[in-house]
Amino acid sequence: MSNVEAESPEYGQYQGDSDVDIAIIGGGLTGLWAAYFAKQLEPSLKVAVFEAERIGYGASGRNGGWVSALVPGNRKKFAKAVQGGVDSAKAFQREFISSVNTILATLEKEDIQADQHKGGTLSAAHTAAGLNRLKAKRSADLAYGLDESEVQLLSPADFQSRINIAGVHGGLYYPDVARVNPAKLVRGLAAAASRLGVDIYEHSRVISAASGLLSLGRGTVRTGKTFICTEGYSGPFLGKRRLIPINSSMIVTRPLDEAAWERIGWAGLECLNDSAHTFIYAQRTADNRIAIGGRGTPYRFASGTGGHGQTAASTVRQLTGRLESFFPGIRFEPEHAWSGVLGVTRDWNGGVNWDPAAGIGSSIGYAGHGVTAAFVGGRTLAELALDRNTVRTSLPWVGYRARNWEPEPVRWLGVHAMYKLFGIADSWEEARKARQTSLIAKFGSRLAGLHE
Ligand SMILES: Cc1cc2nc3c(=O)[nH]c(=O)nc-3n(C[C@H](O)[C@H](O)[C@H](O)COP(=O)(O)OP(=O)(O)OC[C@H]3O[C@@H](n4cnc5c(N)ncnc54)[C@H](O)[C@@H]3O)c2cc1C
Repeated sequence: MSNVEAESPEYGQYQGDSDVDIAIIGGGLTGLWAAYFAKQLEPSLKVAVFEAERIGYGASGRNGGWVSALVPGNRKKFAKAVQGGVDSAKAFQREFISSVNTILATLEKEDIQADQHKGGTLSAAHTAAGLNRLKAKRSADLAYGLDESEVQLLSPADFQSRINIAGVHGGLYYPDVARVNPAKLVRGLAAAASRLGVDIYEHSRVISAASGLLSLGRGTVRTGKTFICTEGYSGPFLGKRRLIPINSSMIVTRPLDEAAWERIGWAGLECLNDSAHTFIYAQRTADNRIAIGGRGTPYRFASGTGGHGQTAASTVRQLTGRLESFFPGIRFEPEHAWSGVLGVTRDWNGGVNWDPAAGIGSSIGYAGHGVTAAFVGGRTLAELALDRNTVRTSLPWVGYRARNWEPEPVRWLGVHAMYKLFGIADSWEEARKARQTSLIAKFGSRLAGLHE
C-alpha cells in the first residue's frame, strides 16, 4: 500500500470544458515541479495538473525517499551522445549535486515538512568483488565531476562506526544526499503549487492527448502546451516500447527500540544501499523504523503497472531477510509493504523532450533515480516550454531519446533473464568470496542495455 492512500482526498475531480495555458498529465513530482516552476516563471499563466488517481499515487508517493545526486542514466553514454562530450556530462552531474541543495532550500522556503535530513548516503560492499565495483564507481564519479570530498572511500571500521553492518568490506560515502518521507514531500509540493495558483485535479484520468486538446472522462481541456509527466505509466501516451515500467518493492519495519539502535548505530540518518547486483536501498525513518526496498517482481508482461502495489509475501520475506543478515540477532517486524513502478528506457538513460511545433513535452526514464531527476526534469520542461535558456536547457538529456524496447515476449524474457542472472551472480560472488564481478552479471547487464 502507498502512504498516500491512507490520507483523505484534497483536490476535486475535473469536469466540464475549459482552456488552460499549460496542461500537465500526472500528479507526481515531475508534474508538480513543472507546474511550480511554470508559475514561478510566468505567474499569470493558467496551469492545471490532472492526476488519474491521487497526488503521489505513482512512484513519487511510494519511493525510498532518497534525494540523491545520481543522474538518470549512464554519464559515459550521455557524453558520447552530445557535442560537449565529457564536459557536458560533468555539467549534468554538477547540476544534480546543486539541485539536492536547491530542493532542500525550496522545501524550507515553502515550509514543506517532509522529514528532510541531509545525512548523505552509504554504499556497502558485502564482498571483495562488490568493493571493487564501488572503487570503479568512485573513479567514474571523480572523472565525471565529483571531488574527493563528495565520494569518500570507507574502511570496514569507518563504515561500521556509522552503520554496523555485519561483515561489511567497506564502502562509499556521498555527503550530498538527503532523506525525505516521499508522501509528505509530494503532498507538500502539491500544496505549494496550489498556493501559487496551479489548479490540481485528482481522480481525473486523461484519456487522450492530441496537440492542444485533452480528453478526460468528464470533459475536455483546450491547452496551449501539454507536459506528459507519467513516467512508468507513459505507455498510453508515448508508446509501450518507449520506456517500460520496472517494479520496485518496499517494506517498513515497526519502530525499533533503543537497544536495537545502540547496536545498529545509524545516528547520522544516512541513506543506505549496497553493491549487490540485486541491490537494496534503505533509510532510517523519522519515527525510527527502517524502510528498505529492492526489486521484487521485476517486470509484468506487456508493461503492466501493478495497480495499487500489492506485494508478494516472498518479497516481504526477502527484504526482511536482508535486514536480518545485515544486523544479526535483531528482530525485524515488517509493518507495511508496497510496490511501485519506475520508467526505464532501452539504454537506461532518461530524457527531457519538448516539441515546440506540437506544444507537447515529456520528462521521463529516470530508472529509479527519480526524486532529484523529477525536480531537474520538471523545471527544465517548464523552462523549455517558456523559451528560457538556462544551464539546464542545454544538459545532455535534453532532446535525448533512447531506441525502443523490443516487442513482447522478448522484453519480458530479457528483463526477467537479467534479474535471474543478477541473483545467480550475487550468490556466486558470495559463495566464492570473489574479488571480481562475475561474468554472469556482466552478461546480464549487457542483455538489459545497462552497459553498451
Ligand atoms: C518503490 C520505489 C522506490 C524508489 N526509490 C527512489 C529513491 O529513493 N530515490 C529516487 O531518486 N528515486 C526513487 N524511485 C524513483 C522515483 O520515485 C520516480 O522516478 C519519481 O518519483 C518519478 O516521478 P514522476 O512524477 O515522473 O512519476 P510518478 O510519480 O510515477 O507520477 C506519475 C503520475 O501520473 C499519473 N498518471 C498516469 N496515467 C495518467 C493519466 N492517463 N492521466 C492522469 N494521470 C496519470 C499516475 O497516477 C502517477 O501519479 C523509486 C521508485 C519506486 C517505485
